[in-house]
Amino acid sequence: MKKFLFFILVCPTLIFSQQKPVPKLVVGIVVDQMRNDYLYRYWNRFGEGGFKRLVNQGYQFRNAQYNYIPTYTGPGHASIYTGATPRQHGIIGNDWFDVEAKTMKGCVKDASVQAVGTINGSGKASPKNLLTSTIGDELKMSSNQKAKVFAVALKDRSAILPAGHAADAAFWMDEATGDFVSSSFYFKQLPEWVKQFNAQKKAKSYLTTGWNTLYPIASYSNSISDDNKYEGHPFSEKPVFPYSFQSYLDKGNYGIIRGTPYGNSLTKDMAIACLKNESLGKDEISDLFCISFSSTDIVAHSYGIRSIEVEDVYLRLDKDLEELLNALDAEVGKDQYIVFLTADHGGADVPAHLMDAKIPAGYLRDKTLKLDLQNFLHSNYGDSSLLLSLSNEQVFLDAKKMTQKKLNADELEAKLSRFLETVPGIAEAYPSQVMKNGSYRTDDIRSLLQAGYHHKLSGNVCYAYQPGWMDYEAVGTTHGAGYSYDTHVPLLFYGFGIPKGESLETVYITQIAPSICELLRINQTNACTSAPLLQLFK
Ligand SMILES: [Zn+2]
Repeated sequence: MKKFLFFILVCPTLIFSQQKPVPKLVVGIVVDQMRNDYLYRYWNRFGEGGFKRLVNQGYQFRNAQYNYIPTYTGPGHASIYTGATPRQHGIIGNDWFDVEAKTMKGCVKDASVQAVGTINGSGKASPKNLLTSTIGDELKMSSNQKAKVFAVALKDRSAILPAGHAADAAFWMDEATGDFVSSSFYFKQLPEWVKQFNAQKKAKSYLTTGWNTLYPIASYSNSISDDNKYEGHPFSEKPVFPYSFQSYLDKGNYGIIRGTPYGNSLTKDMAIACLKNESLGKDEISDLFCISFSSTDIVAHSYGIRSIEVEDVYLRLDKDLEELLNALDAEVGKDQYIVFLTADHGGADVPAHLMDAKIPAGYLRDKTLKLDLQNFLHSNYGDSSLLLSLSNEQVFLDAKKMTQKKLNADELEAKLSRFLETVPGIAEAYPSQVMKNGSYRTDDIRSLLQAGYHHKLSGNVCYAYQPGWMDYEAVGTTHGAGYSYDTHVPLLFYGFGIPKGESLETVYITQIAPSICELLRINQTNACTSAPLLQLFK
């Protein structure tokens, strides 16, 4: 009884005295298409104040993995900040076939909102398709809306999905003008400081300098030769340095900055402007700032993952990171903030490059596959129009027509799956019932497909490529698969209360959100499927 009384009387005091301090600001940095091995490959070329500062003075998870298919930008950003997978948060691709509207729909496109800061359609976007709460949403609710939540990126989806629903603002770049814009989902007018930032026309001045390598080109021994057959050449006749952007500048087309390293520098400038003007991390209420660097993705798509162009983008990003961290030190205070850095997906080798190295790989074209499927449906069911869409490695069939024709949907899907598995480059294919009802080990490709499968939004049949295969043009590369080249990403934590160290334990991208929520001592995101990363709390 005495013990009980003691507990009742002393416990509240104990609880309050145990309330630990929280960081003033959490900064999430997502580097689009950053493979984990870039940290190793470019390590000796990095300075001390960027990536190396985060690794050497923070905690490095060396085996962080995506735990669903498809590994695209929209799902990646949504999963990082919701701690859930497309199965719950509903962002099943960058765009997907909308069964109701019978058309493709962009993951953040929203016709019901107005563009702010531009007359172009790029401003008509919001997080309305994101079905679950984000770190920022929980932070807003737990602080009675007092916490500040902001996001900056070149791509709309890379700003909007991290920011979540209750955010103060997400800013992204209008490709036509190179200006940062937003939508009426957040406010009716751009804040004055954003107007002033845009008036500086920084995109134009960056592009005026052209793009040459940061260091003498002969020193880029981590990369293959500048002029090689695996690279696209969006800006010139040949994919070689130096690049001039004069013809784009003459036309006032500043949006092309996204395909250059300066897209990252512009993002960094905008992020620092946002940090200062919105006074993030200045009071005792924790704030969240989401920054995504998108140019790394666009450059790697064009030139492939082993190009000098990609190496140069990372060496320059390292310097941008250093400047950003220095600005955080100055504005918020050293060790007063937490940074986490990761990627929204990895990236594959150019299949032609793999094949030349005698490693299995290949190309499979959606266009051809669509014809094959139509032929299959015509010869087996007398109607090729049963196929509505082939997108994100999913087959969408016309449910109404199947009912009209009294077709057994389960049988048709199973037959179609077996047919898909005969196509070169397709490893496995499954009907919707397997996606909805099965239970599989985490190393089974079906569990990755399932985690990326939304019961209401996804297609009738899902398939996965063989390793090294993709639907892409003959040069450049992409991502989207469930194999390590697309799933293995960097995961670094740094700053306030974060121990120094590293781990090779397999951890999942969905563990970031619950970890950050626990570091902030707030409720975890509502559909979070994973546990916090225990290494951060030692
Ligand atoms: Zn991406």
